[in-house]
Amino acid sequence: MRLLLILSIVLLIKLPVHTQIIIKNVTVVDVLNKKLLQGHDVLVQDGIITAVSTNIKTPKGTTIIDGTGKYVMPGLVDTHAHFFQSGSIYTRPDIIDLRKHKPYAEEIKWTHEQMENILRRYTYAGITSVVDVGTTLNFLKRRDSFRTKSFAPEIYMAGPLLTTFKSPVYAGLNDDDPFNEIKTIEEARDFIRQQLPFRPDFIKVGYILLGSDKDSAAKANYPLVAAAIDEAHKNNLRVSVHATQLVASQLAVEAGANHLVHGVDDKLIDESYIQLLKNRNVVVTPSLLVHSKYHIVFRHLYHATEDDIHYAHPAPLKTLMELKDLSDTTMVKNYFNLSERNSARVKTADSIRIVNLKRMLDGGVTIALGTDAGNIGSQHVSSYFHELAAIKNSGFDMWQLLQTATINGARAVGKDSEFGSVTKGKKANLILLQKNPLENISNWKSIEWVINKGVAQTPASIRNF
Ligand SMILES: [Zn+2]
Repeated sequence: MRLLLILSIVLLIKLPVHTQIIIKNVTVVDVLNKKLLQGHDVLVQDGIITAVSTNIKTPKGTTIIDGTGKYVMPGLVDTHAHFFQSGSIYTRPDIIDLRKHKPYAEEIKWTHEQMENILRRYTYAGITSVVDVGTTLNFLKRRDSFRTKSFAPEIYMAGPLLTTFKSPVYAGLNDDDPFNEIKTIEEARDFIRQQLPFRPDFIKVGYILLGSDKDSAAKANYPLVAAAIDEAHKNNLRVSVHATQLVASQLAVEAGANHLVHGVDDKLIDESYIQLLKNRNVVVTPSLLVHSKYHIVFRHLYHATEDDIHYAHPAPLKTLMELKDLSDTTMVKNYFNLSERNSARVKTADSIRIVNLKRMLDGGVTIALGTDAGNIGSQHVSSYFHELAAIKNSGFDMWQLLQTATINGARAVGKDSEFGSVTKGKKANLILLQKNPLENISNWKSIEWVINKGVAQTPASIRNF
């Protein structure tokens, strides 16, 4: 009995368990100053970077990782994903209604059951932070259960999307409903208050404009969007806004939006727009590929890439090639119709988006990488590498690309003092690479260790799927 008591006292004194890791003699990829710091040591204690310099004395009981010839950089950030969506053809019944082939309830069940699998895939790929820009309350309720799990990335999550348009297919889903349609200013404020008990990391607003007169639609919806942003800010929550038209994007920023998902794709932006975004410290996540991937899938042209095969969950990926076998694929609606005219419009929008992205980059707007993963054709994890390549092709140099994928991701959620660079005091979300990430983007995949939540893991040990 006495022995038991002594033992439990000893155990109590030893709690909490301290973890210490040191990476010795490594090249630090300093994304803040755009520099490679050679021959450095990085000390990590209880998941926090506590020292970055040369010749750090190794404290007793520290796990030593030899970084000779290797590169340590911040873990990657995807600033635009949706866990309620699987990436399969059945995941957006509002866009293509295939519920008679697979009930939506099964899709909801699948996304929940496979969440750990998907999270492991992110961490495996070195993506240590994922921003879920709009989900269901049932997913938001699960976020904290992954907080201490070293196989899971850090998750920053908004609750259900407040939107100015919602399809009737989502009616009656209760806490599985990803959308709250706002029709009045009171509703805009109420929907946010209803999310507060579940502690969302930020609020997401969809500034959707229906009809051909976009200017009038934008003006009509403005009071709703402005009220939502105001209510979020009153509760110390940042706001991400989906706005693809110049008029909506500009009005959203004027109303106080902190983060824009999707670039403007209807008009070329000008200097005043760039200045507005810079003055308001707005972060933009362009998500260049999500729209064209829908079209590729719907035209039966999707082919799995090497990244898809390596990183994506095989089940939703497989469905992208199955669409042609279903009898009623004519149900693709609205702007996703497959007429030649519409295809041409998609191509034009894609080109406008790319030109606008380069203008924002050159103008000094903060750009963060984000995929919109979960949408049809945009698979979780593998889409990240597709988007990375697309952004690179829009004219980013390697340092700009590294910033877009790391520190700017942290800026998108207002947490750049907490993560996003290999800096003393920040969370040690780190990846150790065998090859120089400045040489090419495939070197970003040469991961030897993922250090996440205080634990050093090999990709193979995370890959429990
Ligand atoms: Zn999205």
